[in-house]
Amino acid sequence: MARYIDAVCRLCRREGEKLFLKGTKCNTEKCTVSKRPTLPGQHGQSRSKLSNYGLQLRQKQKVKRMYGVLEKQFRKYFKIASKTKGVTGKVLLQLLERRLDNVIFRMGLATSRAQARQIVRHNFVYVNSKRTNIPSYLIDKDDIVQLKAKDKAKNKIKENIEQAKDRTIPSWLEMDSVELKAKILRLPEKEDITATIQEQLIVELYSK
Ligand code: SF4
Repeated sequence: MARYIDAVCRLCRREGEKLFLKGTKCNTEKCTVSKRPTLPGQHGQSRSKLSNYGLQLRQKQKVKRMYGVLEKQFRKYFKIASKTKGVTGKVLLQLLERRLDNVIFRMGLATSRAQARQIVRHNFVYVNSKRTNIPSYLIDKDDIVQLKAKDKAKNKIKENIEQAKDRTIPSWLEMDSVELKAKILRLPEKEDITATIQEQLIVELYSK
């Protein structure tokens, strides 16, 4: 799958807020958004007022970037959400939260979603005892997600857990930190996401 390989801090500067794409560095004074709150590029000093379309576009880009999803897949999620019973914007966010890489991140086993994706790709993750290495795999209620790694990788993951220890594990996950596994108690809801997201703007953008 294609992925973004440029400097990720530029993405936060473009959105004008911290998207926490780099794990532990994001909570230090080294964070680029804190140091340089201007837009990236030559004309970054001027931040003009956004049109309605601009607001919708920026909201969509922000959410895509937060979850590390490219346009094609994001649109696919929107299509599924719009055909699913419920409020489209909320279902869209639920689909993003249900991604396996996001679940590993929410379990506190990785300091960023990008790192979580790597963990999944490296065959360390099992869903219901079956090895699963697809970051976009969608978890369901009652699934058991477990991480099993050999010594060297396990030490690195323990470091991640230590670094992520201040993050709250969401209430839809029942975490067993000794066995490095979690049960999905229920599907995540918009209210479980602490980041400020105006999902209605994304729905408006794609409904044009
Ligand atoms: Fe974004 Fe983290 Fe870079 Fe700060 S350090 S700009 S939050 S990715």
